[in-house]
Amino acid sequence: MVTDKLILNGNQVAESIKEALVERIQQLSHKGIVPCLATVLVGENPASATYVRMKGNACKRLGMQSIRIDLPEATTTKELVAAIQQLNDDPGVHGILLQHPVPAHIDERAAFDAIRIEKDVDGVTTLGYAQNAFGFAKFPSCTPAAIMAILAYYNLPIKGKHAVVIGRSPILGKPVSAMLLNQDATVTTCHSRTTHLEDLVRLGDIVVAAVGKPNFVKGDWIKPGAVVLDAGYNEGNIGDVDFEACVENAYAITPVPAGVGPVTIATLLKHTVDAAELLSE
Ligand code: NAP
Repeated sequence: MVTDKLILNGNQVAESIKEALVERIQQLSHKGIVPCLATVLVGENPASATYVRMKGNACKRLGMQSIRIDLPEATTTKELVAAIQQLNDDPGVHGILLQHPVPAHIDERAAFDAIRIEKDVDGVTTLGYAQNAFGFAKFPSCTPAAIMAILAYYNLPIKGKHAVVIGRSPILGKPVSAMLLNQDATVTTCHSRTTHLEDLVRLGDIVVAAVGKPNFVKGDWIKPGAVVLDAGYNEGNIGDVDFEACVENAYAITPVPAGVGPVTIATLLKHTVDAAELLSE
C-alpha cells in the first residue's frame, strides 16, 4: 500500500457536517421542533433494508427523529403515492426518502414526483433534479452532494479541471456531472454504451465512479495526479474503483468503506435539518 497519498477520509468529512448540525438541532428544539426524516421502503431488498436502518440510526444519534414506513412488495403505485402524500401532509415530517430501487411494477418516477419539493431531501423529484441542473437546488441528491462536499472539505480545485464521471443515473451520475459543470469543470459523462472508456478516464483530473460494478476502474486508467471519488457500494463493502491499484497514480482517493458513504448519510441529515428550518419559518 502506498502511504504518501491523500486518502480522503469520509468519516472525518461526515463528522464535520454533523458537528455543525448539533447547535441547529438545539435551536429547533427550543421551538418544539425535532427534525424528522421519513424513510419509505417497498419490498424486502436486504441491502435497501440495511441502508434504511443506517439512516434511521444516524438520525437517532444526532437527536433527530426518524419514521420508517415499510410497505409490502405487492404495493401498487397508487398505494405508494398515497403513503407519500400522507407524509407530505404530516407537519411533523420534514424530509421524505423513498429508498431506491422500488419493485419493477411500480412507476418509480410517479412515486418520486409525489414527494413535496420542500421535503425532497434527496433531490429525486423532477423539479429537484432540474433545480440542481440550474445550480440552485436546496437539496441536491445526497451522494452527488457528498462527493462535492469531499472536494470542498479538502480544498481540491474543480474549476477548469476535466472531470470524468462513469455512470449517468438520475440520482448519481447525471446530477454530479451537473454539479461539477456548475463549478466550472469540463465534464465527460460515460455510460454503458461509451466507447474507448478507458482512454476517456485517462483524461480525467477528477474521476467519479458511479457504475455499480466492483473494482471496475483499473489502476492504469488513472492519470498521474488525479483525484478519484468512488461512489460505488457493492456487496462485501467493495467500491467501483480498484483502490489498491488506483492509489498508485492518484493524488487523492476515497476508500470504500469510509469514503463517500458516510458523507452521503451526513448530507441527508443536513438536508433534513435544512428542511425543518425552512418549513418552520
Ligand atoms: P445505476 O442506476 O445502476 O447506474 C449505473 C450506471 O453505470 C449507468 O449509467 C450505467 O450505464 C453505467 N454503467 C454500467 N456498466 C457500465 C460499463 N461497463 N461502462 C460504463 N458505464 C457503465 O447505479 P447508481 O444508483 O447510479 O449507483 C452506482 C453505484 O453507486 C452503485 O455501486 C451504488 O451502490 C452506489 N451508490 C452509493 C451510494 C452511497 O451512498 N455511497 C448511494 C447511491 C448509490 P447505462 O446508463 O448505459 O445503463
